[in-house]
Amino acid sequence: MGDASSVALVTGAGSGIGRATARLLARRGTKVGVLGRTRLELEEVAREISSEGGQALVLEADVSEEAPMREAVDELVSAFGGLDIVVANAGINGVWAPIDDLKPFEWDQTIAVNLRGTFLTLHTTVPHLKRNGGGAIVVVSSINGTRTFTTPGATAYTATKAAQVAMVQQLALELAKHQIRVNAVCPGEIDTSIAENTSLRHEQETAIAVEWPDGQVPITGGRPGRSEDVAELIRFLVSDEARHITGSPVWVDGGQGLL
Ligand code: NAD
Repeated sequence: MGDASSVALVTGAGSGIGRATARLLARRGTKVGVLGRTRLELEEVAREISSEGGQALVLEADVSEEAPMREAVDELVSAFGGLDIVVANAGINGVWAPIDDLKPFEWDQTIAVNLRGTFLTLHTTVPHLKRNGGGAIVVVSSINGTRTFTTPGATAYTATKAAQVAMVQQLALELAKHQIRVNAVCPGEIDTSIAENTSLRHEQETAIAVEWPDGQVPITGGRPGRSEDVAELIRFLVSDEARHITGSPVWVDGGQGLL
């Protein structure tokens, strides 16, 4: 897997970790369905991939909506003749606020994208992997999914990230007999636009600045990781070299999770 004969779906491929992963897989010869909500961004990624000699198919869909997800996956399978690799990466930070200030609809939005979106990504793709005789799934969780998050206000986000790890371990057992491996990557702070899109309520902005000061990424002396750092781990986990790894949440955080 992860070579010229394989086909991958990457969700949230228009930016950040998803974009770096789609490009890296394509450079290794994998045909990639780049899925997301913003066609312009996806077309840009597809152009980059094609200029590097790879093949990409733009799939515009919201991961939290069942019918568009099913249509997108079907389109990918019929265009490239199968599916081997699934990277469930699309996600949002959503609203970070104290629990008594977080509105129920704001909770629902984070759950819809991060959790329902992961469910629908796997629900619509696993039948194709089974038919294929096997495959590899990577869910992009977070170090928050496996440890207490020191930043206040991220309750909904953290709940979804921990639930993703639980899903991965449950499904690794369920799908092993189909030769489908399921793993999670757990990034620490990575330099993408996700933080800009976080809605921080009231005093949260100060709280975050206080609790995540520079210097808290031990291996870099403070600099956040890069999307490519996460993409390299994903590429390994979906490759045949990782054939004995399933059900693992793997940190890629420069040691941040140890603090
Ligand atoms: P990003 O904002 O650059 O990428 C997220 C992508 O998901 C965007 O392209 C966005 O358009 C897409 N997306 C959002 N909602 C969607 C929806 N409903 N349907 C389809 N696409 C949707 O940020 P990123 O940092 O690359 O995030 C990727 C993943 O990494 C997320 O799951 C995030 O939780 C996780 N993560 C990021 C960090 C970090 O510090 N950047 C740390 C830990 C985990």
